[in-house]
Amino acid sequence: MIRVFTEGHDYYYEVADILANYCRRDDIEFVKEKVPAAGRSLFVHSMLNPHPDGVDLQCSITGDGGTVTKTDRFRPSRGDKLEIRKQYKRYVKHNLLKAAEEFFDKSLPWGILTGIRPVKMIHKLMDQGLGEEDIKKHLTDFYRLAPKKVRLGLEIARTEREFILPYDPQKVSVYISIPFCPTRCSYCSFPSNDISRWSGFTDAYVECLTDEIRAAAAALKERGLTCDTVYIGGGTPTSLSLSQLERLFESVGQNFIDSGTREFTVEAGRPDTLDRRKLELIKECGATRISINPQSMNFSTLERIGRKHTVQDIIDAFEMARRVGHSNINMDIIMGLPGEDEGMVANTLEHIGDLKPEGVTVHTLAIKRASRLHEEVAVVDWVNEEEVEAMMQRTSGYLKSMGMKPYYLYRQKYMVSNLENIGFCLPRYEGIYNMQIMEEKQTIIALGAGAASKLVYLSEDRLERKQNPKSLQHYLDRAGDIAAGWRETIPRL
Ligand code: SF4
Repeated sequence: MIRVFTEGHDYYYEVADILANYCRRDDIEFVKEKVPAAGRSLFVHSMLNPHPDGVDLQCSITGDGGTVTKTDRFRPSRGDKLEIRKQYKRYVKHNLLKAAEEFFDKSLPWGILTGIRPVKMIHKLMDQGLGEEDIKKHLTDFYRLAPKKVRLGLEIARTEREFILPYDPQKVSVYISIPFCPTRCSYCSFPSNDISRWSGFTDAYVECLTDEIRAAAAALKERGLTCDTVYIGGGTPTSLSLSQLERLFESVGQNFIDSGTREFTVEAGRPDTLDRRKLELIKECGATRISINPQSMNFSTLERIGRKHTVQDIIDAFEMARRVGHSNINMDIIMGLPGEDEGMVANTLEHIGDLKPEGVTVHTLAIKRASRLHEEVAVVDWVNEEEVEAMMQRTSGYLKSMGMKPYYLYRQKYMVSNLENIGFCLPRYEGIYNMQIMEEKQTIIALGAGAASKLVYLSEDRLERKQNPKSLQHYLDRAGDIAAGWRETIPRL
């Protein structure tokens, strides 16, 4: 148990975000009394004191082994109340992390960048006109990143800027959610529905979705906005029947794709949903990029995570996709799946090396509350943090030897270790949508059940979120209102 007393601030979320790297989140308790640690618990006292010359910070951590205290003084740069509050939060995290690193003798690879998008901060510093040396120093000294994460973050930011600049408020990207899968994977936390149980609703879903597509596209057109990239994800979009996919692609083509659209991705995630005709249709409808996602090329793991297909099925689907002309194929894999060791990861990589996809997205397992694995925490044979890190290093080295480079990155809460998810690809095969959604400089119009839009107001440096109902039934029940809502939402952009 860690008891925390804050003085001069109420940044509980930020304090918990740092401390959760040193203990379970549930073991952090914020207290009102400035009392020393009693019994076996640790006590943290975090203090912030603004004054005319700047802000003083002090953090003390006390435990059986004694007390570590760190003090800092900062001078905030100009800004409105909100901006100053953001700066104060960072100061509190910096000051607390310094004390925690010494007290627990453990540093955090991403320092105080505990959020999902560490590269976003690097873009912000670049946008402010800082040179790389200044950014490196800032990331190391203030944000407290490990040098290897500084190098990785900068490499990715440089690549991304070739694709996301100049920021253009007249362009949006579109995400379309197909929340159906053949079975539910044990680690899944997405709003995905078992197609065999919901097959009676898929026609209605496609109808409601195409209505929403038409309504959103009409509002975009009225406002003079055009579509940069389209991403059809889920779920597994190819769980739909051929005729349903035909209707969907026709609607997407008519409403969103024009000569300025740079990318059209379709997730063809699971081989048990693919056949030659579907792959041909995806190609004919102008998709420029597909993703076939094995997660692992070990049959015992596929069985264990609830997949109903074999390794050979993945190979066959990939080769069929090549034969019908798909020339930009991504594959997703996961590090840290229960029961896997480095040898099994090496086997997955060998298969990937033989298939030669243009991109591989490497995830680190995250156990979200909505997943089945979360309920099985006590009985699963987890891979430990060091092993996952070794797997990640091996994978990164292997993909680089295939000529790939990291091009986007994000982190998740509840990851098995303090790592990240990284998209690798051969040069010029970058997934532009992936970069746009992470860096949040372009509006994402997200359609369908569970889809979450991000409305970016570039000139005000802020974004609003708009969430469609996660429940399929609620989406179908409210479809008319949801489609009509775009007439109100888009003109505000
Ligand atoms: S394929 Fe993806 S969306 Fe579908 S159940 Fe598995 S993890 Fe979830």
